[in-house]
Amino acid sequence: MRIYNSLTKQVEDFKPIDLEKVKIYCCGPTVYVHSHIGNWRTYLLADLVNRVLNLNGLKTDFIMNLTDVGHLFEVGDDPEGGEDKVEKQALEEGKTAKEITKFYIDSFLSDYKEFNLTQPRKFTKASEYIDNQIDLIATLEEKGYTYETSDGVYFDTSKFKKYGELSGLSVEDVKEGARVEVNPEKKNSTDFALWKFSPKDKKRQQEWQSPWGVGFPGWHLECSAMVLAELGDSIDIHVGGEDLKMIHHQNEIAQSECATGKKFVNYWVHGAFLSIDGGKMSKSLGNVYTLNDIKLRGYTAMDLRYLFMTASYRAPLNFTWESMQNAQNSLRKIYEIIGSYEQDPNAEISEKYVKKFKDALDDDLNMPEALAVVWELLKSNIPESSKLNTILKLDEFMGLKLDEHIGYEIPDNISDIAKMRKEYRKNGIWDKADVLRREAVDLGYIIEDLPDGTYKIKKKF
Ligand SMILES: [Zn+2]
Repeated sequence: MRIYNSLTKQVEDFKPIDLEKVKIYCCGPTVYVHSHIGNWRTYLLADLVNRVLNLNGLKTDFIMNLTDVGHLFEVGDDPEGGEDKVEKQALEEGKTAKEITKFYIDSFLSDYKEFNLTQPRKFTKASEYIDNQIDLIATLEEKGYTYETSDGVYFDTSKFKKYGELSGLSVEDVKEGARVEVNPEKKNSTDFALWKFSPKDKKRQQEWQSPWGVGFPGWHLECSAMVLAELGDSIDIHVGGEDLKMIHHQNEIAQSECATGKKFVNYWVHGAFLSIDGGKMSKSLGNVYTLNDIKLRGYTAMDLRYLFMTASYRAPLNFTWESMQNAQNSLRKIYEIIGSYEQDPNAEISEKYVKKFKDALDDDLNMPEALAVVWELLKSNIPESSKLNTILKLDEFMGLKLDEHIGYEIPDNISDIAKMRKEYRKNGIWDKADVLRREAVDLGYIIEDLPDGTYKIKKKF
């Protein structure tokens, strides 16, 4: 696989540190609002990276974080700079910070499933890694990279020679980021808070004891602490939105490499922006669309997935309701075509199309080109049952759940077996249930148990 590395600004051959397990980390959501479709574009990129590596025969160890502690600042100009989003939302909704984060975590995980994204080994919650974050600051302090001001402990970016390698901006270049309120005590404008002290006059809902005083960690710190704790000092791939590259990711590198003395990330993979109707997504324009907004207009998570597949992850994508409609039309067309195909579990999978498709993805995840191969396959004159089995194989990369749209009827004898098996399971007669499951497999069908106690019958391919 070849992939564009934001660090070297080149498309490179992907070489894992450990052939047995590729370590991947993706910056996840801050859980005080529902994730919007721009966020989902990034998470779909992380999913695609995992799928392509898995299908290249590599196992991945994938971690995604959930920022469930005070998030002091937002990207861009924030008129309310310095405000804690979680606590603010809690106040607005009349709930505790914990209730807020739990609610939005549940919502995120449910959407995540609906998008059919690769499950990470763990969704790490920042609140469960406070000790790791404190330890990381202590290490940085010991090595002389920190200094204290009246409002917190800061990282001195002038002490990290490679600062600016990812962002392309040196310590002198960067103006005060809008992320933290302007602080005249900072030595360099690029310096950032590792630990912020709680205000003296007010008790925060989320605050912890530390060697420097009661307070809470800076946002950049959590990703470094969680990567080091879960994946180790050096990882293969770090995925994130382009908006995080300049400051957040540059700071992750600074903290991690100064603490460990090792290279933090080999490949930085950034997803490009999503614009809406040619402009920015913003609360005031009412266009910060979530999955729910999409569904209210009659579209599905898979329709949006398809839409995102029509552009390279490195190309900015402009979302319009018209493009959403076009994506739905195309996907429905695929459902319709494959629904009409005759099935034959033994029909040959076309290696030619699989290879062509895979070659496109191995070339810096070129999904638009891969998608063109799908249409080429559907229009080709190979037998329909082969086309069907081939597109189902390709769907292992695409994740469009095409198997749910195959127009086969389940024969009565298979339905009966499944029903009987359910009865056995209900009564705890596991051995007989298992015999029936195997019987169905021998007849070419898989009975899949769903978490809600029901089951689904799928044809075996
Ligand atoms: Zn991060």
